[in-house]
Amino acid sequence: MNNMRPMRERRSFDQHPCFHGKASARWGRIHLPVAPDCNIQCNFCNRLYACVNESRPGVTRHVLKPVEALIVLNRFLQQRTNISVVGIAGPGDPLCDPDRTLETLRAVHAAHPELLICVSTNGLNLPGHIDELVAAGVTHVTVTVNAVDPYIGQQIYGSVTVNHRTYQGLEAAQILLGRQEEGIIGLKQRGLMVKINSVVLPGINTGHISSIAAKVSAWGADKMNCIPLIPVHDTPFAGLAAPTEAEMACIRKSVSSYLPQIYHCRRCRADAAGLLGADDAAGCASF
Ligand code: SF4
Ligand code: SF4
Repeated sequence: MNNMRPMRERRSFDQHPCFHGKASARWGRIHLPVAPDCNIQCNFCNRLYACVNESRPGVTRHVLKPVEALIVLNRFLQQRTNISVVGIAGPGDPLCDPDRTLETLRAVHAAHPELLICVSTNGLNLPGHIDELVAAGVTHVTVTVNAVDPYIGQQIYGSVTVNHRTYQGLEAAQILLGRQEEGIIGLKQRGLMVKINSVVLPGINTGHISSIAAKVSAWGADKMNCIPLIPVHDTPFAGLAAPTEAEMACIRKSVSSYLPQIYHCRRCRADAAGLLGADDAAGCASF
């Protein structure tokens, strides 16, 4: 008798609901919130507002240990047959503590080789971990790039920490940008799908988004997701106004000649699960 488990065919890349708008009606994702810490400080981010009801990146109901994440995933997959991708998107940066993220990804890939695996990162720690991400089954990576000019970047990033040393100002922005370039080029050399998230910050980088698009396109990125700022209390950018829908439409149109744009992003929580938008609350409750 043959006890071997039948090979489960991996979902195709175009079944990732975030990278492919058409796939989002049929396929969902689950975020496993195993990454609480971050190695940079963005002036629009406050992860202390983790809660049940708020829906935006950086919030989660719980932070999971890697072993808990697999239990949560297994339970969720028993209820759903429409999940094509497992992602780690915070609530901090998944590569701030790479061991924690890689342990989770290896366990997920071993148990569910049919699923796509996605990681979102600010890119600071990408260059040293690309081969480990590939070995752990990662197929898609999102890198958030909010500036490709360090003079603009220094207005966006309060600090950047590398090897226990914290940098600020122009130096911090230069370090981050250099790591993002190296990381994105390295991901594409290894055949991964790469999406760029750019947070649109009125008065800071709205006139700079096309420069970002041109640069990351030259680095090989596949898609771009321009995300309107959600002003959050107790951050340096709390007083900025969110860009209007008309401004976002104008920006996306102006940069679409450089890279295909994403129009359906739901700015999800770090513990979102299910179809984009429709099932977020249910996903949070399941944790
Ligand atoms: Fe927040 Fe992400 Fe910026 Fe870290 S990289 S400070 S988690 S927005
Ligand atoms: Fe997908 Fe956007 Fe939600 Fe990330 S925030 S899971 S890219 S829809």
